[in-house]
Amino acid sequence: STDMLTGLANRRIATEALSRELESRDRRPRSVGVALVDVDFFKRINDRHGHSVGDRALQHVAQVLLNTARTGDLFARWGGEEFLVLLSNVGEEGARTAAERIRRAIAGAHVLLENGAALPITVSVGVALARGRGMDAVLEAADAALYAAKGRGRDRVVLEDELTDEERSAASR
Ligand code: GH3
Ligand code: MG
Ligand code: MG
Repeated sequence: STDMLTGLANRRIATEALSRELESRDRRPRSVGVALVDVDFFKRINDRHGHSVGDRALQHVAQVLLNTARTGDLFARWGGEEFLVLLSNVGEEGARTAAERIRRAIAGAHVLLENGAALPITVSVGVALARGRGMDAVLEAADAALYAAKGRGRDRVVLEDELTDEERSAASR
């Protein structure tokens, strides 16, 4: 149930937790937010420093994520260099604050290479609040916000609610 490289929850566990939070019909849905966290220009890190440094960079990101954790939040490796954070009991401002704390923590910590050099690393974060929607719709919304964060220059947080019409249609293409 844990991802071998990072020790975070794996995608299956995150999917189960998400669907429990979003799709349970027997209780009032809680206000849940989803943040998709994607490492910026990660391919470049692999290309310049090799796959094993890339792996170490992912372990580093996972550790920093865990250091920002609040009780009740779930951190998962969603795929390759993408992480999912399930934010429980948040409204718009809470979700924004949590995502911004994650972004800032990662931008503020370097990966230490074996030769002593410090490798800077940043992430882009897309955030969506559930608002009664099912899992696929919420994930799609967070992904559209992430895509917009990349387009706006990376190393930033974008909430679904702030997407421009142009960004909305770009994401659905
Ligand atoms: P962007 O800022 O747009 O996200 O650029 P990017 O380079 O991060 O995005 P892209 O999706 O092009 O590249 C992701 C790279 O992540 C490609 C893949 O080789 C690498 N990757 C995926 N999983 C792993 C892994 O477990 N270890 C390592 N070292 N690299 C991985
Ligand atoms: Mg990336
Ligand atoms: Mg990616």
